[in-house]
Amino acid sequence: MTLALNALLDLPELHGRVSVTVTGCWLWIGASTGVGARAVLKVQGRTVCAHRELYRRLYGEVPRRLYNTCGAERCIRPDHFRAEQRYAEARQRKLSPDQLRDLRARWKEGATIAELAREIGWNDANLGLALKGLSYKDV
Ligand SMILES: [Zn+2]
Repeated sequence: MTLALNALLDLPELHGRVSVTVTGCWLWIGASTGVGARAVLKVQGRTVCAHRELYRRLYGEVPRRLYNTCGAERCIRPDHFRAEQRYAEARQRKLSPDQLRDLRARWKEGATIAELAREIGWNDANLGLALKGLSYKDV
């Protein structure tokens, strides 16, 4: 069952855990865990990423990869995520800290730089620097 966007904010799981900003972002202020300190929810005993769970509840299904479009690191508002990231847009965009942490984690788990670079529309060399911490040193 899907819910309307505004109804999601009324979910008991989110009470006291989300701060709505003037720009409309839903910043997670609740518990977080794991790689990149992701916002997490308990759903039927399972721990799930909050932004993915909300996306699923709004749109019915959730793609394997979700890209944040607003740039707010702790935002979990589902319509601030999209499944695809256009090449041109990706080239102009910087990686958010969350995005980079996620890429670094997947790289450590065995994804290749070329594979990850293709996915975000970056060239291998630039992504390699970011993954190795030679750029984006503050993440
Ligand atoms: Zn947002």
